[in-house]
Amino acid sequence: MAGDWTLGIESTAHTFSFGLVDGSGSPKPSASDTLRPTEGGIHPREAADHHVELSSVLLKRVLDENNLQPSDLGTVAYSQGPGMGACLRTGAAAARAISTHLEIPMIGVNHCVAHIEIGREQCGCDDPILLYVSGGNTQVIARLDGRYRVLGETLDIGIGNMLDKFARKHGIPFPGGPVIEKKALEWLSQNPEPSLQGLELPYAVHGMDLAFSGLMSAANKLVSQGKPFEAVCWSLQEHAFAACIEVAERALAHTGKTEILLGGGVACNQRLRDMSSIMCTERDASSHCPPRMYCIDNGTMIARLGWLEINSGRITSLIESGIDQEMRTDQTPISWA
Ligand code: AMP
Ligand code: MG
Repeated sequence: MAGDWTLGIESTAHTFSFGLVDGSGSPKPSASDTLRPTEGGIHPREAADHHVELSSVLLKRVLDENNLQPSDLGTVAYSQGPGMGACLRTGAAAARAISTHLEIPMIGVNHCVAHIEIGREQCGCDDPILLYVSGGNTQVIARLDGRYRVLGETLDIGIGNMLDKFARKHGIPFPGGPVIEKKALEWLSQNPEPSLQGLELPYAVHGMDLAFSGLMSAANKLVSQGKPFEAVCWSLQEHAFAACIEVAERALAHTGKTEILLGGGVACNQRLRDMSSIMCTERDASSHCPPRMYCIDNGTMIARLGWLEINSGRITSLIESGIDQEMRTDQTPISWA
């Protein structure tokens, strides 16, 4: 007889991860591995090979760490989109194999919605505006009429992608975001009150939308003009994060909601967390951020959303278990509380 645990499989981009929630939806830490190319960006085919190679080791690890047998699993959930096609296919194939072999239902879920739901579960917030800042995505999202609606988003590249590309151009390998954060802090410790003079960059807000590629080009130009690299990292963070926080604040004002939830890998950044807290304090709202292991891509968030969806009556048949690279956040009906 099958058990009542839900296994989640994350494979949208650089990270392959298995995570679990128990029968009451309570999350357990994931077993994950991230491809870190020594040079260049993430190549979908190379990432997919990485995922396939590590899948059995990671699955064994997550089961062992929770003292579980495969027979304890009752559902398998996987990221159906959005993401890189070759990567998504590895997760979907693993889900089909596990579902067929163990004769348990499978459910394909929306990766962006999973970031929101693990954040709500971890932070105990009820009806937040989500500022979703990851490698490939930058969106401001709110729940309205049974869907998570995108109120604003990047018009070009994701904020994390922008930070990674800027870093790569200056010899810092993927992921560049954490190194930029460290460099910005170094500049701050040398200049407790740094000035933007000579370090101004374009401001990336267009109504409710954002754009980051012009900002990145201008930052590269500052470095080539001989401005200190640490100073440019600081200014780049200030401009990019202020733009995100401005749009999130306007989303609070438009919807009347009173909670901000940060999600995605860039939400690991302390400066972004601080800016969000400052803005929220100023307008009697609250800012929430899940622990870092649930900000980055992880299988547990997929398990959590799978558990929510299966308990509200949805499953994915074998024939519907294809992937959707372009899946939109507002495609998924939200039928749970
Ligand atoms: P995700 O796509 O959600 O898995 O997140 C990965 C992205 O998060 C990459 O672009 C990283 O550079 C970025 N990231 C991770 N940690 C930090 C940090 N501390 N500051 C800024 N960006 C970060
Ligand atoms: Mg993500």
